[in-house]
Amino acid sequence: CGIIGCVGRGDETLDTLVHGLSKLEYRGYDSAGVAMADDSVSLCKTSGKIEELRDALSKTSLSGSVGIGHTRWSTHGPPTDGNAHPHQDCRGDVAVVHNGIIENYQRLRDELVAAGHTFTSDTDTEVVPHLIEDGLADGLAPEDAVREAIARLEGSYAIAAVVAGTEAIFAARHDSPLVLGLDDGATYLASDVPAFRDFTDQVVYLSDGEFARLDESGWTVTDSDGVRVEKDVDTIEWDP
Ligand code: GLU
Repeated sequence: CGIIGCVGRGDETLDTLVHGLSKLEYRGYDSAGVAMADDSVSLCKTSGKIEELRDALSKTSLSGSVGIGHTRWSTHGPPTDGNAHPHQDCRGDVAVVHNGIIENYQRLRDELVAAGHTFTSDTDTEVVPHLIEDGLADGLAPEDAVREAIARLEGSYAIAAVVAGTEAIFAARHDSPLVLGLDDGATYLASDVPAFRDFTDQVVYLSDGEFARLDESGWTVTDSDGVRVEKDVDTIEWDP
């Protein structure tokens, strides 16, 4: 299972995401999907291999300057198209990918259903876009809505989210790996370096509890209180 994200690749965004997912195949997976965002969020996902995702993508058109992708290793819900990531909120303004397990998802899901949210998958993950939707509805800025949603989660997660109208990727981790890749004009996010190693050897490893924002102007890492963290940039020595 794995996560990829990229900002700043222009027309090559979608190809970059699918390339990244193919480089993460070694981690094992049963489903794959991608989402892209500009003024709206569009996505494509399917159970099965990345070849099947490529087929599905050839029949749809996604647009956006930022994107996230996922390979799923099911823990909650069978490997169906509907349970594949990304997952969305009721309005379709948010897309989320997640590796790991959200231990308190049932309580959060019951609370969200009682508040009127409709769920379309069996996954633990789907609570996250709905929590973000509630934060946005309360008037929070997208970054704060994602932060507040993540603050409610217990368990293990690497999460990346995009929000319609915001050309940024928001990401956080706890007990599941995430690494940033830094290139001139482009920034990547992945579970592991091979996903973007063809483009850059400059990396920043996120630590548990950290939150990253990637956008056209670059990247920032903050702690769970929103305080800026100065991160070391490492150079990867090995070839792809
Ligand atoms: N728990 C999530 C699911 O079952 C994520 C699994 C994964 O790490 O790919 O959909």
